Amino acid sequence: MSAPTPDVAGAHWARLGDRTVRWADDDAASRSGTAPTGRLLLVTQVGRAFQDAHPGVSPVLAHGRHVVVADTHPSILDEQDGLCWRAEPLPVDAVVVGVPATRASPAARADARVGDVVGALSADRFADDVATLAAFPTRHSLSAGFAASASWAEARCATLGLATSRQTVTVGPGTSANVVADLPGVGTQPRDVVLLTAHLDSVNLPGGPSAPAPGADDNASGCAAALELVRALAGRPWRDDLRVVLFGGEEQGLHGSTQYVAALPLPERARIRAILNMDMVGTRNTAVPTVLLEGAPVSSGLVDDLAGAAATWTGLRVETSLSPFASDHVPFIDAGLPAVLTIEGGDGANGSIHSAADTVDRVDPAFALQIMRMNAATVAGWLGSVDSRPRPSGPVVAWGPDRLDVFVLGADSALHHAWWDGSAWRPSPGAFENLGGTLARE
Ligand SMILES: [Zn+2]
Repeated sequence: MSAPTPDVAGAHWARLGDRTVRWADDDAASRSGTAPTGRLLLVTQVGRAFQDAHPGVSPVLAHGRHVVVADTHPSILDEQDGLCWRAEPLPVDAVVVGVPATRASPAARADARVGDVVGALSADRFADDVATLAAFPTRHSLSAGFAASASWAEARCATLGLATSRQTVTVGPGTSANVVADLPGVGTQPRDVVLLTAHLDSVNLPGGPSAPAPGADDNASGCAAALELVRALAGRPWRDDLRVVLFGGEEQGLHGSTQYVAALPLPERARIRAILNMDMVGTRNTAVPTVLLEGAPVSSGLVDDLAGAAATWTGLRVETSLSPFASDHVPFIDAGLPAVLTIEGGDGANGSIHSAADTVDRVDPAFALQIMRMNAATVAGWLGSVDSRPRPSGPVVAWGPDRLDVFVLGADSALHHAWWDGSAWRPSPGAFENLGGTLARE
């Protein structure tokens, strides 16, 4: 992607998806053109939280989770919400929301192992699980409904063959829980671990803790997607470990994920390959089905992997942001761990979350299936396969004109290669002597 070239000294830009905000340092210049005056802010919001709280502030540009506004007096920066929206100076000459031009990979598409997993996903089972979770009157972190939904999710994971455990989570004066479920890989130790996460709790902000909070999109959708991914991945041999964590206390300020990260022993931290968080993956807000991949520089590789899988296995339009906010990927990123959020595109158009209106009819299983396909293909890639090709019992020799190749499987399980280049063995014969053999020209 090429950056727009400023044609006026002091002219600046920031790109959000397919739209670009332009402005100039010089007030006179900006007044004479179309650029807005005043300091520009970038607001990142949950749903429409900022816009609902500021009906008098008309956005310069609204792009789902991201809104550009001209600052007011007193400054919006001085009234940070922190939980539901965040304001910061608009980055200068920068891509805030990118649209990667990723192409489908025929080679990745031909990977039958991944294709089997992607093909095993079911939109119907996803819809059933969303309905089950949304049927609890509320899954407020401190409610009986949360405890019951945690038991249900735990039982589901156990049925799929995962080992489950609980972590107690402190939320203010009460306690909630994280549900943890492990699917061990079959690769030799040491193995990496891939974390699949979603928050299980729901909330009704206007109604209070005991008001109905179906939380169908936010976030029964993410939990149901996690369970469906596990179902598709379980029962197959993966090299590395998979761990599912369903958090409590997210809506009160990311308590479950914050406490999970804080309690991670250093060796566990070190072996985390990736954290894939799903929060609101069920409502289609845009004409073209769109997913936002939100990470940070530490997880930009994961964002690339997901974008590649989306191009290969789905019809999703992908947008990317490296400015993480307000979901369970944030505590991991703050700890320097590679985490990424997958969230429905255009979630700023979803005004139903955090209320009694976040009901199952707002969830589109066919749309969610697209995000699940992207995520399942990506996780399968991260987990890696166990090499089940037949191993030769002795050296394999190949030859051609002026060339002789020898392949030996060493006691270290690695494949070693040496070749006669016409005048000498390369690498030195010593490499083979170490394996208990010698090479000589016949
Ligand atoms: Zn959420």
